[in-house]
Amino acid sequence: MHHVPGRALPHFVIGFLKYLVIAALLLAAYPAFAAERILASRVWPAQEYTRVTLESAHKLDEQHFFLDDPLRLVVDLEGVDLDAELKALPSRVAADDPYIKAVRVAINRPNVVRIVFDLRTEVKPSIFALPPVAEYKHRLVLDLYPAKPIDPLLALVAPKPDPIREIAQATPGAADRSASAAGAPTGAKAEKAAPAKPEPAAPAPAVAKVKGDSAAAPAKVERLVIIAIDAGHGGEDPGAHGRRGTREKNVTLAIARRLKARIDQESNMRGVLIRDGDYFIPLGQRVAKAKRLHADLFVSIHADAWVRPDARGSSVFALSERGATSTAARLLAQRENESDLIGGVDLGEKDPVLAKTLLDLSLTAKINDSLKLGKYVLNELGEVNDLHKARVEQAGFAVLKSPDIPSILVETAFISNPQEEKRLKDGDYQDRIAGAVLGGIKRYLAQNPPLARPRLASN
Ligand SMILES: [Zn+2]
Repeated sequence: MHHVPGRALPHFVIGFLKYLVIAALLLAAYPAFAAERILASRVWPAQEYTRVTLESAHKLDEQHFFLDDPLRLVVDLEGVDLDAELKALPSRVAADDPYIKAVRVAINRPNVVRIVFDLRTEVKPSIFALPPVAEYKHRLVLDLYPAKPIDPLLALVAPKPDPIREIAQATPGAADRSASAAGAPTGAKAEKAAPAKPEPAAPAPAVAKVKGDSAAAPAKVERLVIIAIDAGHGGEDPGAHGRRGTREKNVTLAIARRLKARIDQESNMRGVLIRDGDYFIPLGQRVAKAKRLHADLFVSIHADAWVRPDARGSSVFALSERGATSTAARLLAQRENESDLIGGVDLGEKDPVLAKTLLDLSLTAKINDSLKLGKYVLNELGEVNDLHKARVEQAGFAVLKSPDIPSILVETAFISNPQEEKRLKDGDYQDRIAGAVLGGIKRYLAQNPPLARPRLASN
C-alpha cells in the first residue's frame, strides 16, 4: 500500500530539508567557510628585522603590496575574522620599533581584513607560512628586513662607539684572503670588502691603516681577539623552560650579556653578541654572522632540560662530523637543531652564500681546537657547578658548523631541575658562569694564541 496522504511531507518541505543537509555537509567539508580566527598575534622588534606572527588553526591566505607617501605595507587576509587578537595587534608594536611606525587593522571588504603597516623606512619583507610545530598552530610570519642590509660590524657593536673602531681595526678585508674557499664573504656589504679590493669598505679603514703602519714590533703581534657570544633561542623560540616558568631564551641572553661585559674588560678581547634582544636568528645565520665579524671563537650559551627533574650539572659540546659521542648528546643536538623549526625560517629563501659556506666544510682541524677550548671551559665550569658529564661531548649541532672558527656549545645548567632553575635566574650565579666561560677562553688562548691577521702581520 501507498502511504497515507496525510503523513506525506509537502514537496517544498522536502526541498528545504535537502538544502539544509547539503549546506551542513558543505560546512563540515570546508571549514574555511567559517571565518578564521587569529589565535595569537606577536611582534618581535629588533635592529636586524622586526617579525610579526599571526597564529591560527588553519593556514592563512594573504596578499600584500606596498603603498607610497607615506610608505606602507598592506597585508590582506582573506576569510579572517576581525577578532580581539587582530584588534590588539597595533598595541603590540613597540614605540621604538625600528621598522614599524604604527599598525592599523580594519575590514577592507566583505571577508577581507586589511592590516596596514606604516613603515619608518624601506623594508624588504619575507612573508611565509609555518606548519604547526611544538606548541604552535599554523603561523603566518611577516619578517620586515631593512631594504639596505645593515653592516653587521656596525649593527652589532653600535651601542659602544669604541669597539666599532677596534673591531674595524681587527678585521681588515685581508682576513678573507687567508681563509679557505669557504671564506667567501657573505652579504652585499661584505662583498664590497672582498679580497680583490685592498681596502675594506668598512667605515674605518683609515684607522686600520694607521695602526698597521705604526705597528712597530713585528715579533709580538698584539691584536684584538673577537669572541662571538651566541645566546641560544630567542623570539618565537623560547627554548626549554623550567617548572617555575623560567624560559631558556631569557637565561641565555642574561648570561651572554654578562659574558660580554666580562670579556670587554679584558684589554685584548672583545665580546660580540650574536643576538642582543628577544628575537629569533636562524642557526645558519648565527654561524654566518660570526664569520662576518671575523670572530676568533664562538660560544653558544644554552640551558639543558630533561624529563627527570633530578638531571643536573653543566656540560660542554663540540661539533661532530659524523655520529655523536652518546645517545644523550645526539638527542640534545636534535632538540637544539629544532630551534629553526620553532623559531621559524623561510625555507623558500635560501641564502646562496650561506649554503656555500656549509658545503665547504673543512672542519676537522677546527673540531680539535673546539675540543681543546671546550675542555678548558668545562674545567672552569666545574668550579662553579656540578658537571653533568666529565668530558666534552660531540654531536651534529647546526650552530657549531663554522668552517674556520673553534665553536662550543655550553649547557650552563638544567633549567628543568628546580634547584638549578633557581640558580639560573640568579644574577650572581649567571655572573659566575660567565666568569668560568671567560676563564676557559683565556686558558685556551694562552695555549693557542690567535694567529696574526694576515694584513697586520705583513706590515
Ligand atoms: Zn638550548
